Amino acid sequence: MKLRIHNFIEKTSVNGPGIRFGLWVQGCNLKCPYCFNPQTHSFDGGKLYEVEDIFNKILAVNGIEGISISGGEPFLQPKPLLELVRLIKENTNLTILIFTGFYLSELVKRSLANKILTFVDVLIAGRYIKEKQINDYLRSSDNQQIHFLSDRYTMQNLKQKSTEIIIDEKGNLVMSGILKI
Ligand code: SF4
Repeated sequence: MKLRIHNFIEKTSVNGPGIRFGLWVQGCNLKCPYCFNPQTHSFDGGKLYEVEDIFNKILAVNGIEGISISGGEPFLQPKPLLELVRLIKENTNLTILIFTGFYLSELVKRSLANKILTFVDVLIAGRYIKEKQINDYLRSSDNQQIHFLSDRYTMQNLKQKSTEIIIDEKGNLVMSGILKI
């Protein structure tokens, strides 16, 4: 099964607790005005990767405590996302943090999303609303909600450090983290 991916970086320190593998999926139709990642919206963009290949890339990285998945909208590819998070949780001790534009109340109405959530430690949920923009514990707007779905983390673990500029696997410079504008 394949997941359409916009980009990934092996190590990021600004997208959740500790050092994490960062994965940005491709495709979103939620149309938040002033979205800061419009290049991730097209469902034809990015590149398709076998879920098992992504999992092996994650396994090959030493010194990470988890994976952060963003986008694009992760829950619009529920089948491969479920396969990925299941592989991670059943075979490693890594934590999983997902940024989604959906609210938890929307996700619980979707059966596959509910299964995905059983493997997730932290969910940052809700549309981006520019008028409510903040830079606070991984939220980019004040309407977004943080859900601790396991006992692995608390609010103390989520204090946002800053933005970072890193080089991705294609050699491109990538700015990551929550921007203050
Ligand atoms: S959900 Fe995220 S990627 Fe999608 S439009 Fe909103 S901010 Fe952009």
